[in-house]
Order: sequence, then structure tokens, then C-alpha cells
Amino acid sequence: MALVNENFLKLPGNYLFADIAKKVNAYKVSHPKQRVISLGIGDVTRPLCPAVIEAMHKAVEEMAHKETFRGYGPERGYDFLREAVAKNDFALRGIHIDPSEIFINDGAKSDTGNFQDILQRDNTIGVTDPIYPVYIDSNVMAGRAGELRNGSWSDITYMPCTQENNFIPQIPDHRVDMVYLCYPNNPTGTVLKKEELKMWVDYALKNDSLILYDAAYEAFIREEDVPHSIYEIRGAKKCAVEFHSYSKTAGFTGVRCGYTVVPKEVTTTTEDGKQRVALNQIWMRRQSTKFNGTSYISQRAAEAIYTKEGKRQTRETIDYYLENARIMREALTQLGFTVYGGVNAPYLWVKTPDNTPGWKFFDQLLFGASVVCTPGVGFGPSGEGYIRLTSFGEREDVEEAMQRISDCMKLGKCNK
Ligand code: PLP
Repeated sequence: MALVNENFLKLPGNYLFADIAKKVNAYKVSHPKQRVISLGIGDVTRPLCPAVIEAMHKAVEEMAHKETFRGYGPERGYDFLREAVAKNDFALRGIHIDPSEIFINDGAKSDTGNFQDILQRDNTIGVTDPIYPVYIDSNVMAGRAGELRNGSWSDITYMPCTQENNFIPQIPDHRVDMVYLCYPNNPTGTVLKKEELKMWVDYALKNDSLILYDAAYEAFIREEDVPHSIYEIRGAKKCAVEFHSYSKTAGFTGVRCGYTVVPKEVTTTTEDGKQRVALNQIWMRRQSTKFNGTSYISQRAAEAIYTKEGKRQTRETIDYYLENARIMREALTQLGFTVYGGVNAPYLWVKTPDNTPGWKFFDQLLFGASVVCTPGVGFGPSGEGYIRLTSFGEREDVEEAMQRISDCMKLGKCNK
């Protein structure tokens, strides 16, 4: 008899976005003339840039001819892309990452979820709260999280990030084997400065912990003293794995491509403590068994992001989203909201008025302004009392949404 992996049964349903869709659909049925504006989505809306499209057309054409057709590619990804990454994302910032330390993937979700595969089941885990749910759910599937009690997993160390600590997670007072950090952060849109991130690297080196660093929103960083990579911190190449994605950098959510950096110096120990093992080798072994690579066309598309035109065009699109974020920040601040994020990230994390519960405020915005947000509590217990807004929409929609929220507040409909 084949038995099910019961860890999967522990997972609560993935209800957040389904619940939002249900509420929005019911609202649309009862208000058919009202145009709903969604500031809740985490997907990009602008098309791929011309440099990427041109590279994809060229790659498709190559696939059409016997002489240039490509089948399976190298497991780590094609040299042309790994070399472009090593040069542009690291060497130009003064960081040495060898192309053999870079693994091209089909987006950061797969690798942030799968990396725990190669780590021992009994490892302890620390996560910031609120959080991108993949880090926790993948560890629940592996049997590492314990039991769910009142919205928290018994064997996970939560590091709350709230306005009280200015969204800087406090270093745990005990040893945690694996720490997930994501900066710029989804959902809060906040960042860590270099000296704040250094405290984590020092903690990991001291405790022989591993940092799993998600840099999916790195391309949105605009402030000087915010690190683009954890490897800007001395010692991080000994204790951190870093995940990147082209999804938000270049609108690749539907193309699927990203990469993971596993420096050769990152090692962990066997249970008896007798052997140090390089994670680069183990991850390579895991990938060559379970992953057959990202399509040639996607990798050529990603390579084009690093050309002069590609860099200019992708930056233009990100600037467009960041300008949306600026408009939203200013408008909401003027209305008296306390707003975080939205400077180095596409997300704004907004305190609800008078500590209104997130779902209640969601209803007020939907019914009072026909605007959709995401209740912060959907990302973890410390998200209660906040909502997440995204800046991935069209400019006119963002401006109209701000006007509607303003009208709604003035009429007292959005703060009752
Ligand atoms: N990491 C974070 C923090 C994200 O918010 C997302 C997507 O929303 C991902 C990773 C996954 O991105 P992708 O799999 O599209 O590369």
C-alpha cells in the first residue's frame, strides 16, 4: 500500500488569494457597474522589453534549424548566462562569484522551496514574520515545522517584523540552523541596511547556521546603503545561499528563469560532526537528478537583460512601478496612513486605521472604494493590522485608486 506523506495533510489550504477572489467576485456580482481596481496582485503587468523579445525570437529561430537546434542544456545552465550573471550582478559590484557557483533555475519559487531537500530533517528553522509562504510550507512538507497552533508552527522560530522594531528582525537568543531572509521584503517592502545584514552574517558564522537569502526584488533597490546581495557582507560566502529571479526584474513571471548562488565555501556538517560537506556539490547532485534545466529560449531571454539596451529597458519598467509606489506612498501618507516600503520594493505595507483588523479593512476598501488589497495577516501573525498594496498596476489605475480611497476616507466609509 502506498502511504501518503502526512506532512502534506498538516498544511492549511492555500486560501489567501482564493478568499480574496471569492470576496471580489461576490462584490462584482452585487455591484456590476462598479469597476474594481486591484492593488492586491503580486504579478507584473508590463510586457517584456524589446531586447528580451528580440533575443527570444532569435532563439526560437535557432530551434527551427538542424544546425542550431538545442536539446537538453547543461544542468547548471548555459555558460553564456552564468557568465553574464557573474559579471553583471557580482563582478561589477566588486564581488567574486565563479560561474560554477551559479545554478540557473526556472524561477526562485522552485529553488527557495527545494533547497531544504538537501538539509537534514532535524535542522531548526528561523523565519521573519510576516513572510513569503513558500519557505514555511516547503519545510512543513519535509516534516520540519512541528504542529500548527493558533497560526504558528511549533518548531519554527518566528522573528516578528513590525513597526515596533522598524521591521528589523531581532537575532534569536538561541541557535537556529537555517534562517530564511528576504530583502527587499515581500510582503513589507522594507530593506535591511548593510550593518543590519552584517549582524545576521556574524550570527550565522558564529553558530554555524545557514542563511537562505531571497533577493528576488534586488532590482528595485534605489538607495545607496542597501545591499543588493548578501555577498556584499564579508564572510557571507561561507554561510549563505542566495536566490534570484528575473520575474520582477524583467517581467519573467510567465517566461520562468532565475538563478541560485551556492558558493563553494558554504559547507555544513554531517550529524556525527566528522565531515564538512560543500553544499555546491550536493545541490549539483540534487539538480542533476531532479531538474532538467530551464529552456534555452528563456536563458537567451535572460542573457538579453544584461545587454546595454536590456539594462536600460528593464530599469525603465522598474522605474515605472516605483513611480506608482511613490504616488501611492505620498497619497496615503497625506491621508494620514502610516506607510512602509515602496522605496526599494514594489510593495507598500500600510497600517490599518485605528488597528482595524486586516480583513475588515479589506472589506471597507472594497465596498467603499472598489479597491482590492491583501490583508497582511495572510502572510503571518505579525501581519495583522496591516495591508499589502502592490505597485504593479497601470498609472491611471493607481491614480484613480488613490482618489477613490481619498473620497472614501473623507466620506468616512473607509475608516468605520
Ligand atoms: N521570492 C519571493 C519573495 C517572491 O515574492 C516570489 C514571487 O512572488 C518568488 C520568490 C518567486 O518568484 P519566481 O518563482 O517567479 O521567480
